[in-house]
Amino acid sequence: MSPELQALIDLQEFDARIARLDAEAARLPKQLDAIQQALKEASRSLDTLKTKFDVTRKDLRAKEKDLEVASAKRTKTEARLWEVKTNKEYSAVLLEIEEIKQEKAKTEEEILALMEMQERLTADLRDAESRMKVREAQAGEDEAKVRKKLAEVEGELSIVRAERSSRAREISPALLSSYERILKARGGVAVAAVGTGPICGACRVSIRPQAMQELRTSSEPRLCENCGRYLYWQDPA
Ligand SMILES: [Zn+2]
Repeated sequence: MSPELQALIDLQEFDARIARLDAEAARLPKQLDAIQQALKEASRSLDTLKTKFDVTRKDLRAKEKDLEVASAKRTKTEARLWEVKTNKEYSAVLLEIEEIKQEKAKTEEEILALMEMQERLTADLRDAESRMKVREAQAGEDEAKVRKKLAEVEGELSIVRAERSSRAREISPALLSSYERILKARGGVAVAAVGTGPICGACRVSIRPQAMQELRTSSEPRLCENCGRYLYWQDPA
């Protein structure tokens, strides 16, 4: 095999590795975004729960105040029973007291319901907060892992890129630009192996016996007549 063909094969290996690493380097930041996004969503639903809890507490306080007002009103109205002069007035005050009693009973029921809800929300909130803590810790770990991986990928990329460009300098500019043109046009694969098949390792189309013969004997890089990629004969060891 000619040194140039060997260099092309090496270059193809470097370029395939670079493509894989590039894809990984593009994918990892998306993973970081997804981790952050999931955390944000969890935090939003925790906030919703907190708001519900605050609203309930406020409602409860308001109702407790209502109850105090109703109690005071009842005491005052009951005192009036001693001041009334006629039976008619007496009955009217009694009726008023009855209405206040009913109002109080209704408020007390509402307070009970709000207290139950507050109790439930307190438990829910406690659970949600401890789940959130676990989630945050997990997200921190996941993020650290992804960042470490990203740093590794970027480090490897710069090494492989340097190796690739030093290998590329050993190829004639004409052959290199031809290789790079094919690489770009053919989905990142410019060099394909041919075994005893005999088919092109990239496009899987059969190679004519004569072309096969030339491939095995010639030291010049040759192209696949179907896909136009560089071919090399891979001796089945
Ligand atoms: Zn081909």
